[in-house]
Order: sequence, then C-alpha cells, then structure tokens
Amino acid sequence: VVPVMNEHVESAFADDPDGPAVAPVVAVVGRPNVGKSSLVNRIIGRRDAVVEDVPGVTRDRVAYDASWRERAFTLVDTGGWDVSVSGLAASVAQQAEYAARTADVILFVVDATVGITDTDEAVVRVLRGTKKPVVLAANKVDGGMQEPDALALWNLGIGEPFPVSALHGRGSGELLDAVLEAFPEEPGISEDADEEGGPRRVALIGRPNVGKSSLLNRVAGEDRVVVDAVAGTTRDAVDELIELGGQTWKFIDTAGIRRRFRALQGADYYATVRTSAALERAEVAVVLIDVSESLAEQDLRVIEQVVESGRAMVLACNKWDLLDEERRYYLEKEIDRQLGRVAWAPRVNIAAKTGRHVEKLVPALERALESWDARISTGRLNTWLKELVAATPPPVRGGKQPKILFATQASSRPPHFILFTTGFLEDNYRRFIERRLREDFGFEGSPVKLSMRIRE
Ligand code: GDP
Repeated sequence: VVPVMNEHVESAFADDPDGPAVAPVVAVVGRPNVGKSSLVNRIIGRRDAVVEDVPGVTRDRVAYDASWRERAFTLVDTGGWDVSVSGLAASVAQQAEYAARTADVILFVVDATVGITDTDEAVVRVLRGTKKPVVLAANKVDGGMQEPDALALWNLGIGEPFPVSALHGRGSGELLDAVLEAFPEEPGISEDADEEGGPRRVALIGRPNVGKSSLLNRVAGEDRVVVDAVAGTTRDAVDELIELGGQTWKFIDTAGIRRRFRALQGADYYATVRTSAALERAEVAVVLIDVSESLAEQDLRVIEQVVESGRAMVLACNKWDLLDEERRYYLEKEIDRQLGRVAWAPRVNIAAKTGRHVEKLVPALERALESWDARISTGRLNTWLKELVAATPPPVRGGKQPKILFATQASSRPPHFILFTTGFLEDNYRRFIERRLREDFGFEGSPVKLSMRIRE
C-alpha cells in the first residue's frame, strides 16, 4: 500500500514570516483632490491605469509595482472614500490607520495651494501614533510661485515638506529619494539571484530502473557533449549539453544517471542525496515513472523532493510500450489518486527505448519553465484578487472576518505570492486562492507558493 501524498506537499503553503524578501510597501495617504492618483501615476509611470480621484466616490485601494533608482517597491493607493457615511475626517483617519498598518513608509500628500486643513491635522494625529516613517509631499507646487506654500507645511510638525508637482513631475525625484531613505534596511531581495543565463538546466530523476539513462541516451543521440565536472557537489557529477528542439539544454549530473546503481547497502539513501544535489542545480525536473509497475513509495518521495525544491516539473510516464489495456486503467487510477496534488505538472507518455513521443518532452519543458519564470504585475493581481474576494470572502474565524488588504508577487522561479491580511486565512481558503490563480493565470508545470503577512 502506497501512502497518498499529503502533508509534505502541504508545506508549499506554509507561512514563513521571515520568508522571502518582499518589496517595501509605500502607502499614499491624503484628502480627496490633493492629487494622490496623479502622484501615483507619476511614480509608476502610468504602467497600470489609475482611476481618477473623484471626491466623495468610493474607490477601493489598489496596489502597483513601482521602482526608483532600481529599488522596487509596492505603491498602495489608499483611496476608499465613503465620506457620506462617516464624515471626511473620520474616513481619512481610517485610511491613515490602514496605511500605518500595512505600509513600511507612508507618503502623506497635502495640497500646498490649499494649505493645512482640519482633515490634514486629523491625519497627522493618526500618523503620530504610529512608528512608521512619514514622507510629506507638498503637491501642486507647479512652479517657484508656490514654493512658500510648501514651506508653510512645516507647521504640520512632521518634518520636511517635499514640494512636488504630480502634474508636471517637478520635484518627484527628491521626493522618491526621501521615500527610499525611509525604507527599512535593505531586505536583500534574492530574487532571480540564481539566474545564470545560458542553457536551461534539466534534471532527469526517478527511482532506479525507471529508464533515466535510456531516456538520456535517447535524447543525447550522437550530439552529446560532455561538459564541466562540477566542483564541490557530488564529486563525480558531470553535466551534458544536449541539443533538443532547436535549443541547447544542460542535463544535470548525467554521470550519476549513466552509472548503474548496484544493490549496494544504502543505495537508496545515496539516490536521495544525488537527487537533491541534481535538483539544487536544476531549473526543471523530469520525473520518470515506470508505467509497467505500480507507483511506489519511492516515486512519491522523488516527487515530493521536487515540490519541496520549488523546481518546475514534468511528469514522464515511461515504458509506455509495455502498457496493456488493463494496466493502463489502473495506472490512470493510481495517478489520479496519488498524484492529484501535482496535477499541475504536464505529463508526457513516452517510451525511451523505442523513442515513442520523446519529442513531446521539449514543449512540456518549455511550458513548465515559462510558468516557473512567470510574473504577474501587482496591478493586475490586485484587480483579479478584488473580484475573487468580493465573490468569495474569506471565512470568518473566531468571530472575525480576516480582510485581504492586497497581494504582491514577491518572486518568481517559482512564483511566490504574498497576501497581506488582517488575520489568519484558513488553509482551505488559501488552497482556493491557489486553485483560482492556476485557473486564471495558468502556471502549468510550476509549483505556486502562497504565504500570508498578517498586519495587525
Ligand atoms: P535508470 O536506472 O532509471 O537509468 O533506468 P535504465 O535506463 O537503466 O532502464 C532500466 C531498464 O528499463 C533497462 O533494462 C531498460 O532497457 C528498460 N527501459 C527503459 N526505458 C524503457 C522503455 O521505454 N520501454 C521498455 N520496454 N523498457 C525500457
């Protein structure tokens, strides 16, 4: 009896509060009509459309990708006015509270031509209570004439006002420099750090005798070029560059594949270590399964290793030539039942020995890598998320309904999304989000990670 894959794979959903470096969050706060949306547009360079600020009209907050001096950050426009219900000052104060909770830096926008209003002072009171750095933008300083208006904003008592013109772009560089300076210490975003360029790196993995070396020989043909012995890792690992489907691929640790495993004591352990080492250097794994036999625990363990490694995955059902009707029936059942969690992996049914459908491997690898590299803009992601959450809000937990404030993709390879929430989201709900992400954006062949940052 083979255990159904479960908890192990679950860890892809685990929270890791110290986890991936997330771009700092800058929340834009201010009264209606001070020019917040124009300023947001100015900063993001209008890459995503921003709705005009209409006073008194409820508009949900939205988040965008932005960068300045090659430093990426997430810009959250905290629109969301419902003045008729709570009154302007209360609504602005609420917005400021929200910003203080979610942001690393608060960008407080004041209309310099109007000067300090009661509402601005209400915001300042809220902001004083937080420990978040505040950068003060004195907007609508379109020319030198308005400079004194900007200076008057020193009276707010929250530091230097940066005169800007969201309309013309004047002063926005200095303002953004100040925002950058207020960022928490460089989180050391490691994203794509392991990007190497050059040929895509493939690991052929699977338990002994599934047909790894047969497949390698099949794809390598005569064009095989033996390349670098890899220092450090497994002493005798050798990679091969192989021409396939018009491009060059690097097959990882082919020496380990070509060498026949003998029934040595500890061979199993050795195979596991070897697989980890290969995955470590690979971008995509082709997991081979011998369809002439039942799925074994060892097969599932290999698949778990791939999921844990966060690599892209293609499932190769090998020895298809040995399949009869009856075995085929049971194979599909086994796959459905035991590999449901990795249903996202593209599957090719091949026979390494005869060459059957081996040419389907390349398109599958390409699809998997494309998903693995994929990046969804913060604007697009949040538009999607808003609709999803409106239709199916997170379940109430302990009498409270957690709110999803916004989401951002922290990294790719594989895609990793962070949900900023006001409370804990149940596993079921997060799985629901992952499922919908896959339905709407694809990600065939790649694990997708989802974690939460709870901002109280
Ligand atoms: P490895 O240990 O995963 O590298 O597996 P091998 O490539 O050494 O294959 C193990 C055995 O399965 C060998 O006897 C191969 O000839 C056989 N084999 C591999 N692929 C196929 C296939 O597609 N069909 C059949 N019938 N046998 C295969």
